[in-house]
Amino acid sequence: MTDRYAVFGHPIAHSKSPLIHAAFARQTGQDMTYEAILAPKDGFADSVAQFVAAGGRGANVTVPFKEQAFALANRLSPRAERAGAVNTLTFDGGGIRGDNTDGAGLMADLTRNLHCALAGKRILLLGAGGAARGVIEPLLEQAPAALVIANRTISRAQELAGLFGRGVAACGFDGLDAPFDLIINATAASLAGELPPLSPRVFAAGALAYDMMYGRDTPFLGFARAHGAATADGLGMLVEQAAEAFYLWRGVRPDTAPVIANLRQDRLEGESLAAPPLRGLRT
Ligand code: NDP
Repeated sequence: MTDRYAVFGHPIAHSKSPLIHAAFARQTGQDMTYEAILAPKDGFADSVAQFVAAGGRGANVTVPFKEQAFALANRLSPRAERAGAVNTLTFDGGGIRGDNTDGAGLMADLTRNLHCALAGKRILLLGAGGAARGVIEPLLEQAPAALVIANRTISRAQELAGLFGRGVAACGFDGLDAPFDLIINATAASLAGELPPLSPRVFAAGALAYDMMYGRDTPFLGFARAHGAATADGLGMLVEQAAEAFYLWRGVRPDTAPVIANLRQDRLEGESLAAPPLRGLRT
């Protein structure tokens, strides 16, 4: 029987995940479907339960449900536990296993695709939301010289830094003018077409500016380019976190390079795997 997977979010129509997983399934010969499900904001757990009852084997979870997915899982991977958020669910034997592949996705994109070595580097992480939280531990594992979290609401940055200890510093955007080798924008500012109020002095010579947002050029990337930094958007991270989820579910690692290249050129459009509609799903 064809195995069934999905991504849950609200909104969800924009999601590239069905296209990405369809490409992975074709590439690796996996018999599966993958659909996008718009869960009601107050009905995430019900939607997941209906999907499981209909034979769902696993799911990705995106905004705004990652914390609810964390609460729903009855088994958590260590990295999901540290991140406090879940983006990948696996349904097996009546249980729900929760994992978080965002950090692995970012690391794969930075180190394998962008050839960015992080050991001994100074890293500035902008934002203290779910995405920032999921990448701190994997960044620390690369032994950077410094990791500073800057956030609009300083108390959230402080709270986050406090969870990880081990030399993670926290601040607001004001007065931040030391140079960094890698500046990661994990704020939602780009979604609104806004630029976090940054000093251009944060870009060290040869710095890489990375925006987790993907799909369009952002004020952050434009600002970074204007001040001499190399830039990258979050499309590679998106595909790499999907590949890690695919591996968890299917035990096979897809080749991400052609999928990233095709997505960049919109060549994956219209190729998602169809699945029969779920009856009675409230959206
Ligand atoms: P959250 O809502 O959890 O966090 C939002 C963060 O952005 C907070 O730190 C918030 O600050 C800050 N923020 C919001 N608006 C502004 C603004 N105008 N100026 C400065 N700071 C702002 O979102 P997520 O962490 O889930 O997502 C953040 C970004 O990462 C999104 O763009 C998302 O699309 C992207 N993402 C990309 C992924 C990928 O695979 N490429 C994976 C996951 C996320 P405050 O605390 O002050 O409110």
